[in-house]
Amino acid sequence: MRCPFCNAPETKVIDSRLANEGDSVRRRRECLTCSERFTTFEMAELVMPRIIKSDGSRVPFDEQKLLQGMSKALEKRPVSMETIEQAVNHIKYNLRATGDREVPAERLGEWVMDELKMLDQVAYVRFASVYRSFQDLDEFRQEIERLESPQGVNE
Ligand SMILES: [Zn+2]
Repeated sequence: MRCPFCNAPETKVIDSRLANEGDSVRRRRECLTCSERFTTFEMAELVMPRIIKSDGSRVPFDEQKLLQGMSKALEKRPVSMETIEQAVNHIKYNLRATGDREVPAERLGEWVMDELKMLDQVAYVRFASVYRSFQDLDEFRQEIERLESPQGVNE
């Protein structure tokens, strides 16, 4: 960890404790060169797996992008921001739970659809139409047919 005061590469940890109810670690550090002290926070997000895109490139998981994408799909739908954030947290949990260092973007997309399907069917179709349109049209059509088939007939 580089010193923010003199830019020296060597700093030592002088204190370490959990913060934010255990979500992060707060560390007091001291620079070995200029002796200035500063605090760092380490978050579990740093160990999130990277995402393998369809072209094979690897990108860091982008929580903001995911949140924006899901908010977009849920625009004007009766779903609160808090509920969307919970869904994003489920997806982050799934990502960590794989234990893999890299996860295909496809799998991330499937998790997003699972969450949307539970939250709001209109949003689910909206997202699925964008997500699947170039990959598997037949699958998408089947999905629409399944959603549009009358519900409650057997009740
Ligand atoms: Zn320093």
